[in-house]
Amino acid sequence: MSADVEIDGWLLGLGYGPGPARDRARAALEGAQLTRSGKTRMSAEKLERAAALLAGTFSLHCPGAACVEAARRSGREPLAAATKAHCGHCGGSDNARAARDLLEACRRVGIGRLLVVGGSPSVREELHGVLGSALELRTVDGTERRTGERAKSDLEWADLVLLWGATELDHKVSAHYAHPPAARRRRVVHVARRGIAALLGAAVEHLRRNP
Ligand SMILES: [Zn+2]
Repeated sequence: MSADVEIDGWLLGLGYGPGPARDRARAALEGAQLTRSGKTRMSAEKLERAAALLAGTFSLHCPGAACVEAARRSGREPLAAATKAHCGHCGGSDNARAARDLLEACRRVGIGRLLVVGGSPSVREELHGVLGSALELRTVDGTERRTGERAKSDLEWADLVLLWGATELDHKVSAHYAHPPAARRRRVVHVARRGIAALLGAAVEHLRRNP
């Protein structure tokens, strides 16, 4: 006996909500003869093929501008996802979306090395995770003793410096980084907001204003 599933509920679970997204998904399934117009159930053995067809045809996105843009460029048909968590680009994570925006902005202006001064050890670790390897990232503990020499070499290394004042950041440490050589000055961003998404968002804003 072969089990079957209710198609609309199955589609919703994949992120194809009621409305245009469901209509488009159904049309694709019907086009591939995996179901017919008016049918409400589909045999379980077709699900794998159906899911692969949908994944290859559509790019689900959340309302975030970067995700909409990524969906447009995906080569697949962009569709608004039922929930943010179904976004194929950020999975509903503000941090992931902010990281995408920053990587995009850095690529545009040719920035490859990011220095973040401040932040707790766990947050700095998360930063590494969310930015991945697309950008070289150096982080400096905002409470550790950093020599002027070391700070100078950090500043020479970095294309973009984020001084994260809303977090663990001693004045003694930040002072080393706040006054870089003149040529570098416009690439130092003071961020007073908390949270990774806000930190990265401030960097994106800076790059937008100072391309
Ligand atoms: Zn998204």
